[in-house]
This record gives sequence, C-alpha cells and structure tokens, in this order.
Amino acid sequence: MESDDQVMTNGVLSPLKAHFTAGGGLNVHNPSDGTLIATIRTYEAGDLERFIEEADASRPDWSRRTAQDRADVLRRWHGLVLHHIDQLAEIVTLESGKPLAEGRAEIRYGAAFIEWFAEEGKRAYGEVIPSHHSDKRIVTLRQPVGTCAAITPWNFPVAMITRKVAPALAAGCAMVVKPAEATPLSALFLQDLAYQAGVPEGLFRVAPCTDPAMAGRVFCTHPLVRKLSFTGSTRVGKLLMAQAAHQITRLSLELGGNAPFLVFDDADLDTAVEGVMAAKFRNAGQTCVSANRILVQDNIHDAFVEKLAARVARVRLGDGRSEGTQMGPLIDRAAAARVSGLVQQAAESGASIRCGGTAEGAFLAPTIVTDVAPDMAIIQSEIFGPVVPVVRFADEAEAIRLANDTPFGLAAYMFARDIGRVWRVMEALECGMVAVNDGALSTEVAPFGGIKQSGLGREGSKHGLAEYLDIKYGLLGALGT
Ligand code: ADP
Repeated sequence: MESDDQVMTNGVLSPLKAHFTAGGGLNVHNPSDGTLIATIRTYEAGDLERFIEEADASRPDWSRRTAQDRADVLRRWHGLVLHHIDQLAEIVTLESGKPLAEGRAEIRYGAAFIEWFAEEGKRAYGEVIPSHHSDKRIVTLRQPVGTCAAITPWNFPVAMITRKVAPALAAGCAMVVKPAEATPLSALFLQDLAYQAGVPEGLFRVAPCTDPAMAGRVFCTHPLVRKLSFTGSTRVGKLLMAQAAHQITRLSLELGGNAPFLVFDDADLDTAVEGVMAAKFRNAGQTCVSANRILVQDNIHDAFVEKLAARVARVRLGDGRSEGTQMGPLIDRAAAARVSGLVQQAAESGASIRCGGTAEGAFLAPTIVTDVAPDMAIIQSEIFGPVVPVVRFADEAEAIRLANDTPFGLAAYMFARDIGRVWRVMEALECGMVAVNDGALSTEVAPFGGIKQSGLGREGSKHGLAEYLDIKYGLLGALGT
C-alpha cells in the first residue's frame, strides 16, 4: 500500500478505532489490491446472547415512546448518515471495491430507508371492524414484534442494514445485526452514528463475528428473538428457515435471484441497452436483482448484441477509489475465478464469448456471451458478476416459458412498447418485481422482495414496516349497546 493511501485510509477509518483489535479479530481486506485495511473485534455466542438480552431490556422504554419521538431520533440518524456521506462511501469502497460514485449512491439509498421508515412509523394504524354482534366491538392493534436479529450481505453493506433496522426501530422493536465478514466497517460506522443520533446503545447493536453459522444458530434459538431478517444466498436462507422452526421465529428472507431480462422486437433498443447497463453492471453484477439472463427476440438479436457490445466497450474498469472508474473488482479473487469459470464452461458447451471472460485478480471485464442455451450452468445459476449471457427466443409464449424456468422469483426486466404485451408479460412473470423499460427498480418507497425460492416478505414501502408489526385482534363484549 502506498504511504499516501495509508494516510487516507487511516484518516477515513479513524472514527472506527475503538472497534480495532491488535490480533485475533476479523481481517478486512480491500478487494482491489488485497491489502489489509483493518482488524476488528469480533463477538462469540455468549456476547451475542448478551446483546440480545440487552436489546430486549431496552426495548420496552423505546416502544413506549411516541412514534413521533422515535421518528425524531431516526431523522437525526438520517441526517448524520448524509452528513458523513463521503467518509461512509469511501469506507464502502475500501471494503467492497465498488466505485466511489456507487458508494455514494448506496449511502443516499441506504439513508432514504431511515427517513422513509421514520415517517412510516407514524402510520402504523390499527382498525375498527364492523362487529358481528350488536353489543360487541372489534378492533385491531399493530404492535412491535419484539426483539429482532438480522444477518446481512456484503454487496450493499449499508443499505441492507438500514432497510431492516430502520423499520424495526420505527415500529418499536430492538435489533442485533451480524454484518457480512467482508464489510463490517461501514456497518459499525452506521451503528456509531445511530448512537450519536440518540438510539439507545443496547437497542441496536452491530456484532461482527468470524463464525456466521454460530450467529445464525444463536439468532434462531434464543427465546428472546422473535424475528430474523436475512439477506443472502438461498442456501443459507434454507438453513435458517430450518433452524427457525425450532421456536417458529418469524422470518424475512431476501435470497438469490435469477432475473430474466426480456427484449422484445418492439422495444427501443437504446433504452434496452441502457437497461442492461443499469441492471447488469451496477456493483459489477453483484446484486440479487442483477439481470442474469438476457432473452432477446430472434429478429432483433444481432442488432441488440452489436449495440450492447459497443456500449460495454466504454466501461472503465479500475480501483473504485480512482477518478473515472465505472466498475470495480468483484468481492475477491475467488469470486472472479468462479464467474470466469462459468464463462469458460459455457464456451466449452458451444457458447461464443463476444468480449471479456478472463479474470485478473479480483477483476473481470464486462463480458458478453452469445449462443447460450437455456440449460447451461451460466443460465441456471446466479452469476453475481459482470457477465451478460444472451439467449434467443421466438415469440411471447417462449419468452415467458424461458423466463419462468427457474426456482427463483425475485426481479424481472422487460423491454417492449406494445401496452397489451407489456401487461400480459408483466402478469405472467413469476417474480416479486418487474421493471418495464427500466433497469433499476430499487427504491425505499416500493416493496422489494421475491416469491418462489427468492424469499419471504418485503422491504421498503408500508409493507416493509408491516414485517415488524404483529396484528392483535381485540374483542370488546357486553357493551350494553
Ligand atoms: P453471499 O454469497 O452473498 O456471501 P451468504 O448467504 O453466504 O451469501 O452470506 C450472506 C450473509 O449470511 C453473511 O452475513 C454471511 O456471513 C452469513 N452466513 C453465511 N453462512 C451462514 C450460516 N450458515 N448461518 C447464518 N448466516 C450465514
């Protein structure tokens, strides 16, 4: 590491010094060059149990406060996150490798959940239901589910935390978070800013661990944890779901995807190309809503691939902290090797590599693969890298059949102009989210989530708050009315 870099790195990380340890902790690396950024203190099963108990003990005071009072604290947290946007973005870039511009965009996006749920918490309305009997009345109350836990991934290390913690706190819950091993620094910064904003220390806790399976077991078996929210792989989601059966812990699961990206022959091809750029190359393709399979109608296939290849050639690859970088490395070398392996395997099975395909360290240049058959591994698995596999289809029926031919059902993208076609296909796609003529659908105001093996529950919007509220039905009888 250059000495200048060290000054910069030390400067940006100085507020986190209290979390550092000399040895025996968790080593955090910069994916761009593999250098060690920091070694941080980690927590064992006994610590997690203590954090859960402390969270549960501070919860009654918090949930007794008015929603306005909780909103005031959350809004201060929102303000502090935005105030520190440059520092937080740099930390996200250091630990995840994404370009600084994307780091900043993530902080804005992550902060938006805090503001949204601060407001939405004031609207946790119950109901008065017309009664079945003249001297009885029926009401419903919305009450916080209790003490919650969360396990989050490295691809959006800030936003994946705020969209769980903000609704939990707004609803009157407490939460203990185990962040991803690769990206605990921004999570700890987020926690410290929450404390500065007035979130009680015990109520919300970020607890980095070296043994994620242990954290999962503690969260699913501790009797005080009423709900677990997880974002990550379907493999781990299934493990957690099995463990949650132990005490019927409520679950929100945001798992893997295999998003189809359909381009019909009436689409505006330039819009569709820009859609691929947003849906595929953001975070170097490491998002659960990344376009995984580009399905293109036969008669526009060649024209579309030409335009896409020309556009992709302009993407500037580099260290996320360098000026002008548009795409950074993958999270580590192993990820780049795995993704380029999928590309080579497709080529051996008859696909053509139009550009890219070879990993250098953790970097993989934007890759386009054509002549891809629907049964190839590159189509069946979640790529999680900057690779565009293009599959041809003949008509609407075949497009829908191919798009739905997956156990996943998170996002889908479709490009077409005919309104009848748009409506028919949107209804027929088996997924939780469909973007029509757009490549970016994440926003705090809309319900994000999947069906099939992509998960349970929704994050963002009023539905994201409901995940942290129980419904209590109250019957008032013998009213003499
Ligand atoms: P990814 O491929 O995105 O890393 P993972 O599902 O492996 O997906 O990781 C997402 C989160 O799940 C991370 O915080 C990770 O530490 C955690 N995790 C990994 N394995 C387990 C496990 N067995 N139980 C609970 N959490 C786990």
